[in-house]
Amino acid sequence: MDEPTRIREIYDRLIHTRDIQHWQPTSMSYFEGQPFKALLAAMLSAQTREENTTAAINNLLALADAPEAMMQLSDEQIRTAISPVMYFEGKVRYVRDIAEHVAANGGVVPRTLDELMEYKGVGWKVAVLTLAMGYGINDNITVDVHVARIGIRLGLVKATTKQPPKVNEELKQVLPREMWEHWNALMVMFGRTICLPTYPQCKKCPLNDICPKVGVK
Ligand code: SF4
Repeated sequence: MDEPTRIREIYDRLIHTRDIQHWQPTSMSYFEGQPFKALLAAMLSAQTREENTTAAINNLLALADAPEAMMQLSDEQIRTAISPVMYFEGKVRYVRDIAEHVAANGGVVPRTLDELMEYKGVGWKVAVLTLAMGYGINDNITVDVHVARIGIRLGLVKATTKQPPKVNEELKQVLPREMWEHWNALMVMFGRTICLPTYPQCKKCPLNDICPKVGVK
């Protein structure tokens, strides 16, 4: 099997895997087409479990769901709302900074990585996720721990590649364009159900016969 055929086979088998199809959507997917909310949720999600991000963003949006209204909140209100996420003390400042910048920009969230990354608390991954969810711009693949780990195991990414932007570049060189949009969600679901971080379930994995299992003991 040549490499393009193997990659197509990986993709097709995964999207037809029952465990993956029945997995719940990520909290980010609730903010498709809503850039301001997507940006906040992406920023809050850094280093944080899915359910805690969901709780925090829902708390925050219940208090204020537009930039101007969010600027009126006290630090204490924001702190309490986002307390479920990791490093919430520092993220209070990021929430305020994002609300102020977006309000100053006429309520419009920027549509480029460079502009978004000028905001406090917005790194490459948060910016990519925001563009994908908020605007449907999928010029890059959102790289999280699942995408990076499974990319290496599947032999799509070099084992020495660590930085998310580099993982993204290597994946983009081998994955057809139409797969980029769905790759992150697919890997997140696959990484939570089968290709687990510590004990990958290779025996029941639909990719067992076409996976080189790089780094798997
Ligand atoms: S065969 Fe194992 S290492 Fe490869 S994708 Fe499946 S679970 Fe992950």
